[in-house]
Amino acid sequence: MKRKISILGSTGSIGRQALEVIEKLSDKFEIIALAGGNNIELLNEQIKKFKPKYAYANNISLIEGAAPLSLEEICSNKDNDIILVAVSGKIGLKPTITAINNGIDIALANKETLVMAGDIVMQLAKEKGVNIIPVDSEHCAIHQCIKDISQVENLIITASGGPFLKKTIEEMKNATVEQALNHPRWNMGKKITVDSATLMNKGLEVIEAHHLFNMPYDKINVVVHPQSIVHSAIEYVDGSVIAQLGLPSMHIPIQYAITYPERYNGIKSKSFSFAEIARLDFEEPDWKKFKALNLAYEAGKIGNSATVCLNAANEEAVFEFLAGKIKLFDIINSVEYMLSHHNITKTPSIDEIFEIDKEVREKTKELLVHI
Ligand code: NDP
Ligand code: MG
Repeated sequence: MKRKISILGSTGSIGRQALEVIEKLSDKFEIIALAGGNNIELLNEQIKKFKPKYAYANNISLIEGAAPLSLEEICSNKDNDIILVAVSGKIGLKPTITAINNGIDIALANKETLVMAGDIVMQLAKEKGVNIIPVDSEHCAIHQCIKDISQVENLIITASGGPFLKKTIEEMKNATVEQALNHPRWNMGKKITVDSATLMNKGLEVIEAHHLFNMPYDKINVVVHPQSIVHSAIEYVDGSVIAQLGLPSMHIPIQYAITYPERYNGIKSKSFSFAEIARLDFEEPDWKKFKALNLAYEAGKIGNSATVCLNAANEEAVFEFLAGKIKLFDIINSVEYMLSHHNITKTPSIDEIFEIDKEVREKTKELLVHI
């Protein structure tokens, strides 16, 4: 029987690659709905090709060839076996909760969902017996390594180090948008690419891992691994380390997440050769250069609304950087400022999370005007 799937964010980097996987495995999937944002031209092309029953776009009147539904309605449709949440930003949170409430499994790319509301989302998934399969390559790697979480001593998350790994702090101070977007290993959406340049992406991933695998922060380690071949690893209590390796391609984790627990010969480009790769390097992250990582650990350990603040302040600052209005380090300085002035709300509800998110964004924008 075909697996019925909907894709939120089908016009984005992850969404487009997911459709490439599904095209290869067309006998395994039936697409129920595709959802994009503003790129209506691409969405309509995708509708023509993949023939979903339903679709969403920011301007639904421009959708051609599928019945328009809201993101919430798509996620309430119990025909879905699985929903790939690959929108960027906070927009992913509410539809994910709706899908979980309807007992639909989630392939989760949108890390903001867990950074903002990991406690609520994971608890709800547990109650509803819903699987959340990570698409993020590091978490997907860990998901593949873990047999019994209770026997795991440490999670080891790898980081490519981004475009500024070998640059000095002085060089980073004046980094251009173009330099920040020039990621050596991965071709991703702009927001996450800037986060990879500051290593905030890795910080968000540490928080994501904490929630997905219910691991305390002092058992989540980050190691820089420039080749991006080892996608992450776990260390068992007996000292045995299991890592997941593969060529750097998002097709593999996307396919794993949407076909789990099956595996297929899908879009794999070539066989893996250790001899061709020849060497793998690892080093400690430079904590002085990449303060974002520290801020994320701090916010994660504080928990409650601190990670909402971290995420909102960072995202607003990244948008300002992309617009050419602030410098790279202003991103991290403003996150640090917002975090240090944040009044913690304990165990915030979803409504409170969105209120805090809005307030932090407004304050961050105000702060950045004066830079
Ligand atoms: P992109 O910016 O490439 O794509 C974002 C997608 O979300 C697009 O389809 C966009 O639509 C849609 N979207 C944005 N805002 C809205 C909105 N308000 N309503 C509806 N749809 C919206 O991002 P990525 O694909 O790179 O990343 C998606 C998510 O996956 C992020 O959370 C990211 O952190 C995570 N992720 C990405 C990885 C990657 O390799 N790219 C790796 C690991 C995680 P449109 O373009 O039509 O406006
Ligand atoms: Mg990742």
